[in-house]
Amino acid sequence: MSKDFGLSGDAKAKLLARVGVRAPLVAEPEPEVARPRLPLGRPEVAADLSMMARAGAALGIRDPFFRPHEGVAGATTVIDGRSYDNFVSYNYLGLNGDVRVNEAAKDAVDRYGTSVSASRIVSGERPIHRALEQALADLYRTEDALTLVSGHATNVTVIGHLVGRDDLILHDSLSHNSIVQGALASGAQRLSFPHNDFDELDRMLSARRAQVERALIVVEGHYSMDGDIPDLARLVAVAKRHRAHLMVDEAHSLGVLGPRGHGIFEHAGVDPAHVDIWMGTLSKTLSGCGGYIAASAELIDYLRKSAPGFVYSVGLPPPVAAAALACLEIMRDEPERVAQVQANGAHFLKACKAAGLDTGPSIGAAIVPVMTGSSIVAARAADRLFDLGINVQPIIYPAVPEQAARLRFFISSLHRPEQLDRVATTLADVLADVAKQRVDLAELAGRIAAA
Ligand code: PMP
Repeated sequence: MSKDFGLSGDAKAKLLARVGVRAPLVAEPEPEVARPRLPLGRPEVAADLSMMARAGAALGIRDPFFRPHEGVAGATTVIDGRSYDNFVSYNYLGLNGDVRVNEAAKDAVDRYGTSVSASRIVSGERPIHRALEQALADLYRTEDALTLVSGHATNVTVIGHLVGRDDLILHDSLSHNSIVQGALASGAQRLSFPHNDFDELDRMLSARRAQVERALIVVEGHYSMDGDIPDLARLVAVAKRHRAHLMVDEAHSLGVLGPRGHGIFEHAGVDPAHVDIWMGTLSKTLSGCGGYIAASAELIDYLRKSAPGFVYSVGLPPPVAAAALACLEIMRDEPERVAQVQANGAHFLKACKAAGLDTGPSIGAAIVPVMTGSSIVAARAADRLFDLGINVQPIIYPAVPEQAARLRFFISSLHRPEQLDRVATTLADVLADVAKQRVDLAELAGRIAAA
């Protein structure tokens, strides 16, 4: 009998591969090293980063990113030993650093340590997780809720795990990166509709709905760049008409919208049951880190047992879960904080408008952009304001289209009206001054190229 048991060469190779035996190595000629070893990463992103750094240097602007704060960042913050009026932190209800929140976190550390040392499904479950999830489910009046270790990863893993190739995701054109990444991960068809334009969404669904199994609409309750909100009642009607599922990201709405800070549904007077999936983060009002989903018991059970970013990732650290729960309790007991952040947002919006500034579509809650119309003006103004003791981030191309460049102010319940007035006046002066400085773009381009 032949040594090959009568198998063809191909069948033999397949059999060997199946039983894990490697085919004998045949010495192959060393391939020629023809191409250089390129740096990893996306070349177009690296080019953008390098261009921004060279443009900043050519304009004499300091890098506004990664500035280390030396304590809790609230209405003011300390950077490099100097105190600044602070507008870069989403500490909306001023609860980060609150002594009660700190105590809750410390107690949790004393009881459970700093980590749960495993995915919750195996041995990372602690009572504090379910207590937080119950509180979140109560807030959204859903059957259940689930918390995950990152807000960004929550959108990626949950959206990516709820729909697939035969489905359609429609998201607002200004959606956060995590929503877009989740949609891409799902493999579903993805369409973005013009910002807050639910007539167009309706038309898109009319054209596409019949060709897909399921349609999932994803919006945010309070947009983090523009500070505006969707018309939730209208959106619910469109979703129902097309038998679409609806998901709302409340990252910037919790603690900010509605009389008790329960978010866009409370603000709009819409029954939260009309939304299938409430998503939010623990990193803003709740002074922690992580994301959550509040939904039906069936959907939460499915995610709890199968969403990759939950099943294959560690459970929330106990101090983070305890801090978030403490924040929810304080928000419930001290609604005046919610009223204060809303009053401050409205106050700042009014002060900016009175000073002749363009605040875009902001409703004047926790996010107020001041449009500058150009990245250079935004970057220069932020740099000048920093010298004057005001810390605000410039949002520049490519994060937004060039003509939508802006300074973005995050408002907290801790800001004081006189502080907001002073900042609005200083800002108007600085912007007027910076706008006067003409930039020779051709000359600047030459210097950037030479840098
Ligand atoms: N959703 C929205 C709308 C956000 O703005 C953010 C980040 N700020 C996230 C999700 C991600 O949340 P986190 O930073 O907590 O990971």
